[in-house]
Amino acid sequence: MEKRVYIETYGCQMNEHDTERILRLLEGFHYLETKDAGEADFVLVNTCSVREKPEHKVYSALGRFKGLKEKKGAIIGVAGCVAQQEGSRLLERVPYLDMVIGTHAIPMLPQLLQKVEASGERVCEAGFDLDGSYLKAIPPRSPLDQIRSYVTIMQGCDHFCSFCIVPYVRGREQSRPRREIVEEIERLVEMGVKEVCLLGQNVNGYGKGLKEEVNFSQLLRRIDEIDGLDRIRFTTSHPKDLSEELIQAYLKLSKLCEHIHLPFQSGSDKVLKAMHRGYTEESYLEKIDRLKRVCPSMAITADVIVGFPGEEEKDFEETLNLIQEVRFDDLFSFKYSPRKGTRAAQLTDKVEEKVKQDRLSLLQKIQREITFQKNQALEGGVEEVLVEGRSKQSREDVTGRTRSNKIVNFKGPLSLVGKLVPVRITNAYPHSLRGALLDSEFVLSPGCLSHEGQKCCC
Ligand code: SAM
Ligand code: SF4
Repeated sequence: MEKRVYIETYGCQMNEHDTERILRLLEGFHYLETKDAGEADFVLVNTCSVREKPEHKVYSALGRFKGLKEKKGAIIGVAGCVAQQEGSRLLERVPYLDMVIGTHAIPMLPQLLQKVEASGERVCEAGFDLDGSYLKAIPPRSPLDQIRSYVTIMQGCDHFCSFCIVPYVRGREQSRPRREIVEEIERLVEMGVKEVCLLGQNVNGYGKGLKEEVNFSQLLRRIDEIDGLDRIRFTTSHPKDLSEELIQAYLKLSKLCEHIHLPFQSGSDKVLKAMHRGYTEESYLEKIDRLKRVCPSMAITADVIVGFPGEEEKDFEETLNLIQEVRFDDLFSFKYSPRKGTRAAQLTDKVEEKVKQDRLSLLQKIQREITFQKNQALEGGVEEVLVEGRSKQSREDVTGRTRSNKIVNFKGPLSLVGKLVPVRITNAYPHSLRGALLDSEFVLSPGCLSHEGQKCCC
């Protein structure tokens, strides 16, 4: 008999992708997804503890689901970073919780669920899987209704930045064998996927510990050869490890989109040192300069933290200067929150909450203006757009993304979904672009459109 699973996901793309994997896995055990928690037989909260805010949401979410347990006996579980970090303490703290599933335990979920169903026993699995087999692909059972897909290539991190919980909750770096990744992408392409985003906390570390000698740039080269795949993206790259070989890959690989997410965290060398980031403001800017020289149209996004312990006004100004110098296409900006067990959590020279908030608001205001200006600079030009589906705003419009990952809406038929088409940008908005289809008969090859909108020789 079919049952229903409801999953609430917090945090990053890694978690969103884990939720996708869990849904695929449970489908084989007759659990189908519902978007309505009220009709669920199993409710799972997939958690994130990278920052304080998403972590706190977990407890309020569990509070909301308590009634479902009481009314209809739904099974309640917690997965993700908080599950990994807290383990059985979560079962003690939340008496109606049935399951705790750590970041490495996803493949065991169906068996654990069956155990809870059969015996009513409360279960916790929060160990680390040292051979990395938990990263294996979970193939979709029903046809995929999507043009883009995440693909995990590595997980965990060996960097131990002083503010970051990731190495403690996702473990040390583990890479998936190249052959496995390529096979997964080939299967996704057969199911209609045109764009993959390769996921890892530090993709530059790809290959460490594998039997085969292979690095991230070599993996990209192999993926670029997959027939039927149009676009490749990846996230996240650590500035310290961004190699010249990877920078050159943007020139050589036609499917690799001209966008990089390169978190800088702070523009102050003093703060970067205290964060243990392993680079200076100058060396970060040198990498940006190299990227822009190799690829002038490169879109650059990043993460930044304000209010790290010891951050003075002049350090914050250096962060603002860096933002104004690089002119990022977009920024993910966060107030520092101490994470239990990290080195920075022991630092005492804390920045007051109000100061953190004021700095964040100012930084975000400056970035909003830059993002809008960068969008406006695209007006009049022609962009290669991968069409993803119907636009939410109008039934006559379709929506897609440029190679630089900007959303474009334009009038066009649904038959364009999955195709690369040339679109002239007519209007820029703060978070998206509007365009006009140049020629619906003309379908592009990846990367073949020059920025003036000229068709190239292919
Ligand atoms: N691996 C990436 C890198 O090296 O920059 C970052 C991955 S981390 C999961 C995502 C982002 O969360 C970080 O770039 C950082 O800006 C933010 N972050 C991590 N720990 C934080 C903390 N304790 N307080 C505020 N923001 C934090
Ligand atoms: Fe966290 Fe990224 Fe630093 Fe790793 S490199 S510890 S994931 S911030």
